[in-house]
Amino acid sequence: MWHVVGQNRVVSLLQRSLEKEALAHAYLFVGSPHVGKMTLALNLAQALNCEASEPPCGECASCQKIASAKHADVQIIGVTSNGDSAEAKPRVEIGIDQIRQMQHSANLPPFEGRYKVFIIDRAEFLSNEAANCLLKTLEEPVGEVIFILLTVNDRLLPATVISRCQRLELPPLAASEVEAALGSRWGVESPKAKFLAGLSHGCLGWAVSAIIDDGVLQQRAERMDRLIDIINANYEERFAYAAQLVAQFNKNRGLVQEVLDLWLEWWRDLLLVKVGCDNVITNIDHKAALVDMAGGYKLAQIKGFINSIQAAEEQLRRNANPRLVLEVLMLSIPRRKYG
Ligand SMILES: [Zn+2]
Repeated sequence: MWHVVGQNRVVSLLQRSLEKEALAHAYLFVGSPHVGKMTLALNLAQALNCEASEPPCGECASCQKIASAKHADVQIIGVTSNGDSAEAKPRVEIGIDQIRQMQHSANLPPFEGRYKVFIIDRAEFLSNEAANCLLKTLEEPVGEVIFILLTVNDRLLPATVISRCQRLELPPLAASEVEAALGSRWGVESPKAKFLAGLSHGCLGWAVSAIIDDGVLQQRAERMDRLIDIINANYEERFAYAAQLVAQFNKNRGLVQEVLDLWLEWWRDLLLVKVGCDNVITNIDHKAALVDMAGGYKLAQIKGFINSIQAAEEQLRRNANPRLVLEVLMLSIPRRKYG
């Protein structure tokens, strides 16, 4: 029983490969944050080392150790902050030392299981040296070792690394799948499950984190209030906001991506309200504000700004100057003409 919710296409592909003993020696899981990449990677590690007749059982000693990160043969390699760097701002990356340690460990036989599994989380943060070092390992497969790279954006990885992996894309779940899973597995009741499913954009892990940690929704509400303020603010305040985002971007570009996704979500809702589809908006808790704001814009203005947000996200992905991109975006918030 695979624990990951949805992802049927990818799960059945992996299941068939397991049955035929035709596994790739390296996988690349690509998907949005919280869509289930790590859950699936751990599930695959369980399936490879499970002691039951129908792996992954989730219950045997091996499966349980893997679920609680205590299995000697399953290792997760992730980003660390390189605070000792001589540069002014610490770099967040997966360094070459981490990859060398992993290679050393990969050369030893499995300690307690059948396979060694190395999960490289947020592989887009591999430093150039680390990626080159990893490439050597991927080019010379050794026996019972499987590498699973996880990334939100494989365009940030060297093509040489991607070409050595079997690439599997994890699409967002349907809102109904998220809602059902929240109900059946986490006991969340209907109105809240529906609300969280809408906000999650198909990323169940986000909805689960919002159940476990009140701060997630709190932070979202604060960002949303700020967003509404900025739409109504003068240029000076908008530039100050852009500067704050730039400072965040330099520390953690993922956070700025989240904020821009909120902007996109808000303007999509404005569009839906404008065309009379307010029963399918995401921010149902802000419906009155959306209706009020949509009244002040023409449809073309809303569409135009949605394009601007998407263009800004794309430019940031392509490593454009964040200050320029974000300031231009703040300047292009349309002016409300009426309402
Ligand atoms: Zn098991």
